[in-house]
Parts: sequence; structure tokens; C-alpha cells
Amino acid sequence: MAIATVNPATGETLKTFEAHGPDEIEERLARAAAAFQEYRTTDLVTRAELLRAAADLLEQEQDEIAHTMTTEMGKTLVAARAEAAKCVKALRWYAENGERLLADEHPSAADIEDSGARTAYIRYRPLGPVLAVMPWNFPLWQVIRFAAPALMAGNVGLLKHASNVPQTALYIGDLFHRAGFPEGCFQTLLVGTDAVEKILRDPRIAAATLTGSELAGRSVAAIAGDEVKKTVLELGGSDPYIVMPSADLDRAVGTAVTARVQNNGQSCIAAKRFIAHTDIHDAFAERFTAAMAALTVGDPMLESTDVGPLSSERGRADLEELVGDAVAQGATALCGGRRPPHHRVGWFYEPTVLTGITPTMRIHREEAFGPVATLYRAADLDAAVELANDVPFGLSSNVWTGDEAEQRRFERDLAAGGVYFNGMTASHPAMPFGGVKRSGYGRELSGHGMREFCNVTTIWYG
Ligand code: NAP
Repeated sequence: MAIATVNPATGETLKTFEAHGPDEIEERLARAAAAFQEYRTTDLVTRAELLRAAADLLEQEQDEIAHTMTTEMGKTLVAARAEAAKCVKALRWYAENGERLLADEHPSAADIEDSGARTAYIRYRPLGPVLAVMPWNFPLWQVIRFAAPALMAGNVGLLKHASNVPQTALYIGDLFHRAGFPEGCFQTLLVGTDAVEKILRDPRIAAATLTGSELAGRSVAAIAGDEVKKTVLELGGSDPYIVMPSADLDRAVGTAVTARVQNNGQSCIAAKRFIAHTDIHDAFAERFTAAMAALTVGDPMLESTDVGPLSSERGRADLEELVGDAVAQGATALCGGRRPPHHRVGWFYEPTVLTGITPTMRIHREEAFGPVATLYRAADLDAAVELANDVPFGLSSNVWTGDEAEQRRFERDLAAGGVYFNGMTASHPAMPFGGVKRSGYGRELSGHGMREFCNVTTIWYG
């Protein structure tokens, strides 16, 4: 895949980039290793100040970078601005909370004595240079949610971003540099996937984090496993959105639409499978379909647009194949199911609701990465849980119910890294984020995310 900015709303190639060659990669690896030896000795107050400086710069430049993101991957400008603002918040959150989350932990006096120590404690020390392989869908947020905690913990980062967001990728490296981080603390590598293995096997790389598809995750984790290097994987999802009879239907419908079409339908934590209890199924289906059909598809730069284009021609073709397979096997499109007829250029797709889904259809088990919802009817709570868990993924889940006994059941039984009641899944710096099953392993955000790339060290004095 060429490293290039191609506007998804027009299909026009705006700028191409030369990939870094072996000498340039070597230089950056050497710089990262040298930077780590210095940076790991800095104190937490200094690191927090640097993160605050990055947040301040980003805050001043958020309109500019939002424009770049929309141009490179097609999310609406409104969403891109919100993404930049969220990154500012995350940088400040780690600056504010990092010291507390990285503080030494002290076992009980009785346990210390029992271990034979005069004193002992647990210290979170950094691991080293971490390779971050990142996707295009939240091109700023995915990187910042790794970088902020990693830098706060004293690690340094090397970013291999998706090939279709090179300008955003370069901006991020530059942002940390201008914020005052020492040279080499956070660098962007302009490389294709073919360069990843060699970088990952380099002894100067301590660990890797990947956000992206299962295929990419598998490959990076296999190489890292072979090298006995720690990985965190944030992979795909096909999150359920369960609506029970006690739900506030107005809110459940409105949120369902946002949860499905956020980021033009290309979010790992988008609700993708809508499971309505039989008592309210028809009312939910009717209102949800009407709301999806009423969305405005168009130029992502316009404030009035709800849904922009998909990020690539390949992405739209994959989605069309999934829908085509379902319809050929008897599924019905209650709305959408096609390209909007009035868009001759750009990779647009109409918001779609599919019903009549059966287990043999690919879309029943695979992730639909675009504005396509599948709708299911569940006879009761047990059937809803069974349907919800009947996918290889387990990223997050959403449930609408006011019934406390039902809430306890869903809390216990949904196989996912998050269970969100009466709302939609959204990440927050204070709360861990990640999945189970083929959605990956490890966590980002909160103290859990920050400690993934720490050497949890026992310090013991006799
Ligand atoms: P992707 O094709 O896997 O790309 C993600 C990154 O991995 C890109 O930088 C890509 O580089 C690189 N890559 C691809 N194949 C690789 C390989 N064999 N070895 C090393 N690197 C490789 O994923 P995508 O299509 O851009 O993103 C969509 C997927 O990401 C969806 O499945 C979505 O659910 C998932 N996602 C998950 C989360 C989460 O937090 N769990 C968040 C966002 C997205 P190139 O661009 O150069 O190919």
C-alpha cells in the first residue's frame, strides 16, 4: 500500500510520501534507544509538564489537525474536532494522574516481615522503546491513548501509522518534539507493513502495541512472541446493543443511531448488532430504521453531514461483499444496502439496517466496518445473551434496561471488555479499554493501560 493522502470524499490522491529506507529506520531506532537511556531517568513532574505542553499545543492547533484527519480518512469535521479535543483531555489526564498511578506500592507490614525483608516495595519502571502500529480510523486518538501513558511512565515510542494517514502521523511526531520532549522520545516512522518484522525483531525495541485488524494483530503478536516481547492488541469488534422492554425507547433509538454510524460506521466499539427483545422489537425496528434512513450522507467537511465516506475503496468493497452475501442468503435491507445514487465520486455508502440474519451469513460473525446495522429478535434475556456472545469478538457491549435484576445478569454474562448500560460505549482516560476473545488482550487507558508497558519491579532490602 502506497503511503499517501487520498481524499475518500473525492478519490483524489493529494500527496504521496517516500517510505523511510533502512538507513533512516536505523537512525531512528538508534535515536530511540539513546533517548530512552536519558528519558527514563526524568522525574514524573517533568514528564507531566511535557505532556501538558503537548496538550496546550494540540489545543491551539485542533482545527488544523481536524481538517487534516477529515481530508485523509473522511470522518466528519465535527467528529475530527471532537477527537482532537479528546486527545487534549487525555494528555492532561495523564499529566494530572500519572504520578498517583505510578506511585510505589507497599505490601502490608506483616507480609514484608514474613518475606524476611527490612523493607520492600513495588516500583513501576519503564520498559523501553515501544513500537506502536496504529490504524487510520481514529488517527490521532489511537496514537495519543498509547503515547500519553507510555511517555508518562518513562517509555519512548516509535509510531508506524496506517499508510493512508501520513500527514496526521507526521504531525504527531512533530507535536511531541515541539512540546519539548527530548529528541527521539516519540518518532514517526513512514514505513509499510513489510518493514514491521525487522523493526520488531530489533533488540532495541522492548515491546509493541497494535490497534487494527485481527490479521495484523496475529502477525505482530506472532513475531513478538517469537522474540519474547510483550504486546497489547486492540483488534476488531462486533458489539451487541441489546434493548429490553423496560428501555426508554426514544433514547435507545437515538443512541443506537449514533452508536452505529459514529466515524462513518468505522469504529471498533461501534454497536454493530442490534438485539431487540420481542416485546419491543417491532417498535424499535421501525423507529431505528426511520432514523437511519433520515441521516444525511455527504461531504464530511460540512457541519450538516451525519455520515461521510468510507476511508478507502477497498473498505467499501469489503462492506458491499458482506451485505451482498447476507442479501443473497435471504436477509432484507430495511433501508440502505447500496451506494447513494447522487454521489458519483467518493466511497460513500448508505446507512443500512439488515434483518433476517441467519448464522450462515458472514455478517453474523464478521465485523461490518461501515454504517451497516444487523437487527435480531430475542425471545427473552437468555436468548439475548446467547446472541450477544455468539461472535468471535468481545470488545464491548451495550444494554438498555431499567430492570436491576436484568442488569446483574448482563454484568455477569456478557463476554466483553465493557458492559455499558443505558448509553453507548465510549472510552474515557480513567477507565480501562480493551477486549477479550479475538478483540485482543491487554488494556489501554487508566492505570491498567499505563502499567502494560512497565517493568513491575520488586525492590527488597534485607
Ligand atoms: P489494519 O489493516 O490491521 O491496519 C492497522 C495497522 O496495522 C496499520 O498501520 C497497518 O499498516 C498495519 N498492518 C496491517 N497489516 C499488517 C501486518 N501484517 N503486519 C504489521 N502491520 C500491519 O486495520 P485497519 O483496517 O486499518 O483498521 C480497522 C480495524 O481496526 C478494524 O478491525 C477495527 O475494529 C480495528 N480497531 C480496533 C480498535 C480497538 O481499540 N480494539 C480501535 C480501532 C480500530 P498499513 O496501513 O500500512 O497497511
